[in-house]
Amino acid sequence: MSRRERVLLLLPTSTYRTRDFLDAAESLGVEVVVGSEEASTLESFQPDRLLTLDFLDPESATALAREFHARHPLDAVVPVDEETAVVAAAISESLGLPHNSSEATVRARLKHRMREALAAGGVPHPSFSVARTSDDPRLLARGLTYPLVLKPVFLSGSRGVVRVDDQEGFVRWFKWLSGFLSNSELRPRGGEDRGVVLIEEYIDGREVALEGLLSKGRLHPLALFDKPDPLVGPFFEETIYVTPSRLPEATQKEIARVSAEAARAIGLRHGPIHAELRLRKLNEEETPVVIEIAGRSIGGLCSRTLRFGLGISLEELILRHALGRGVEDLDREAGASGVMMIPIPKGGKLEAVRGIDEARAVPGIEEITITAHLGKTLVPLPEGSSYLGFIFARAGDPESVEKALRAAHARLELDIV
Ligand code: ADP
Ligand code: CA
Repeated sequence: MSRRERVLLLLPTSTYRTRDFLDAAESLGVEVVVGSEEASTLESFQPDRLLTLDFLDPESATALAREFHARHPLDAVVPVDEETAVVAAAISESLGLPHNSSEATVRARLKHRMREALAAGGVPHPSFSVARTSDDPRLLARGLTYPLVLKPVFLSGSRGVVRVDDQEGFVRWFKWLSGFLSNSELRPRGGEDRGVVLIEEYIDGREVALEGLLSKGRLHPLALFDKPDPLVGPFFEETIYVTPSRLPEATQKEIARVSAEAARAIGLRHGPIHAELRLRKLNEEETPVVIEIAGRSIGGLCSRTLRFGLGISLEELILRHALGRGVEDLDREAGASGVMMIPIPKGGKLEAVRGIDEARAVPGIEEITITAHLGKTLVPLPEGSSYLGFIFARAGDPESVEKALRAAHARLELDIV
């Protein structure tokens, strides 16, 4: 009798995706082994379903995974974020499963390595320089062109990303970033790259996100999202994503082409990618510039906007692909969909969210999920790291989706004290 296929799913503690991946595995009839960092008390009850791994130490994680594999053979290793992608590459390589190279996953995780690879590959990217938090900001500030963007190299979700318009702002925010990065909570995650600061040319222009899957180095685009809210700084809080894109067909093709080039330059060849690009306007023409490409799928709960074929989730698509099943024939459903990551208007304790029923009643709204627990302290950008919640909409066209999201959001009232 053939055994059930088994997937090692690497879940960071902070992920929002556990349920969606577990549901996907269940509907595929695949057995899941959860790899996570925090030892679970359940591990002793389910030793063949849970594996505690140190994601910051791919070598030890690989040794444990090999040991596990000898008893319970694994057919695929699926990471959920940039950090677990590095571990997944090492484990898959050691088990002889299809994988990205470890070097490529490190380049995708660390923004300065990514920029260097894009530059070497001739892929359009913001011009950049690299500094360290120990450098003197006053000296640095003089030689730079403004506006620019300051960012840490190992974080995500726009944490620590700041637009700066002049020398004075540079000095202030560089000092702020140095303090932020010395925060003890961040220390182990950044490792020796914690003190690296990326200084980038600010690219003015609309922003899009491309979701895709790589098979043997070939990019299969899954969805292109417009981000209709202006993202001009000083902080870059993500809000609305709507697909399909309303950009001209030729621009969309160019975005897919540049994203594929970016994946190639970094060396990513296998599994999901999430690319973010800005459209730089030159003589009425918009040309894509790569802000970032990650070897993972879209974050938060945003994947719930996507359905393929007859209602298959992105997580199911990713699992199928990881198990070597064909997914190229699965197109995104017809119609438009979108999500709003509910902005955090200010810091403080979330005491109540009112108007949810009214917001749900807006035509086109499918789901509103408040992910922050009541009583939780909300931290806005540039420091914050978690979402308040998500509004999901579906409609016949992208305009209606965007309108529904805004109308629903307008009905929500947040008590933050
Ligand atoms: P993160 O990994 O935290 O998402 P990103 O590099 O993607 O970091 O930056 C977050 C957001 O900040 C981007 O989505 C974009 O809106 C803005 N941003 C980052 N770099 C630039 C840049 N060079 N020019 C313009 N906007 C930028
Ligand atoms: Ca990003």
